[in-house]
Amino acid sequence: MIVLPLFQLRARTLSDQGLKPGLQIHGAMSVDAMHDHQPDDSPPDYDVIIIGAGPAGLAAGIYARRAGLSCVVLEKGVPGGQVMTSPLIENYPGFPEVPGMKLMDVMAEHARRYVDIREGEEVTRIRGGERFELTTTNGRMTSKAVILATGSHHRKLDVPGEEGMIGRGVSYCATCDGFFYKRKEVVVVGGGNTALTDALYLHSIDSKVTLVHRRDSFRADKHLQESISRKGIPVLWNTVVEEVLGEDAVKGVRLRDLKTDAVRVMPVNGVFVAVGEVPSNQLAAELGLSMDPGGFVQVDRSYRTNVPCVYAAGDLSGGIRQIVAAVHGGAAAALSAFEDLMNPYFKRS
Ligand code: NAP
Repeated sequence: MIVLPLFQLRARTLSDQGLKPGLQIHGAMSVDAMHDHQPDDSPPDYDVIIIGAGPAGLAAGIYARRAGLSCVVLEKGVPGGQVMTSPLIENYPGFPEVPGMKLMDVMAEHARRYVDIREGEEVTRIRGGERFELTTTNGRMTSKAVILATGSHHRKLDVPGEEGMIGRGVSYCATCDGFFYKRKEVVVVGGGNTALTDALYLHSIDSKVTLVHRRDSFRADKHLQESISRKGIPVLWNTVVEEVLGEDAVKGVRLRDLKTDAVRVMPVNGVFVAVGEVPSNQLAAELGLSMDPGGFVQVDRSYRTNVPCVYAAGDLSGGIRQIVAAVHGGAAAALSAFEDLMNPYFKRS
């Protein structure tokens, strides 16, 4: 089975729109680089470095640059974050129905009007001090402030067979891999918005999909629950996947009914895991940021962390984990950085 990496799917979507990946609308990168690169060998220095180009990081970039801060957005993959994997978004104001990938392409193109987004550049080390010092996969840079928008990654089921079958029938992204499961039997595991959206998407492309959920009710939005029952998508309630079966490719799942304790094997070709997100907090830990027990960075209402001039927004800072909230957090973090660095007259007491 061929599994297309996400960036290829994205490139395809961009070319469908007649756009090129990495298109610079106003060349913000060269302007920033010229201003910030020192004449000697010292690394480029910015007012603020934003790490992560999901909705929070992109909004932060727009707001920071519009406030006059020199700035760069570093993204280890492609811009968009987790939203890229959502087949359909129905609750982002202004876009009644939009695929996650399309929404994020629009948002990234908007951000590029203002700020350099460096794709494929991962921050491997970060240190605080008089200046923040960052080591990336492309070099070094420094800044007066840092906005962390590193998002979250998929939680795994942690059952036998899962890890070895990733890309061979186990997937965490219905939009990326669903295409390969047309007219095939699949399960989607989970009961949140992601699981139900993924199940609806797979159903719409003619997969034979069954939802497997460990409780007797969903936590997903009512609207999605109604769509699931309207489409007649079967649900196995109070059921967990105990093992993913198969050698070269997924052949089935071993299920346990938590009410009766009965165990059975269900033959399937695909297992889509949608059991939530885990914050990507490694850089936050390096900076000594306070976190809650779930690993989400604690921020105040202005998205300041416990470390001066470090801000966190988006999924990394927890909360309702919606695109609108991430966008708000990114914008608020950038404006807080502006206040802290520039001490504007309207904030002085
Ligand atoms: P989520 O809301 O945290 O739901 C995770 C689901 O997986 C829950 O039903 C949970 O069961 C189940 N689960 C967790 N660990 C499990 C395990 N080990 N085995 C089996 N089941 C397990 O995660 P999400 O759906 O990915 O959503 C993450 C956030 O993004 C949420 O805030 C969500 O609202 C948001 N989101 C929004 C949209 C949208 O609005 N369009 C779309 C996608 C995501 P329990 O219920 O029993 O805990």
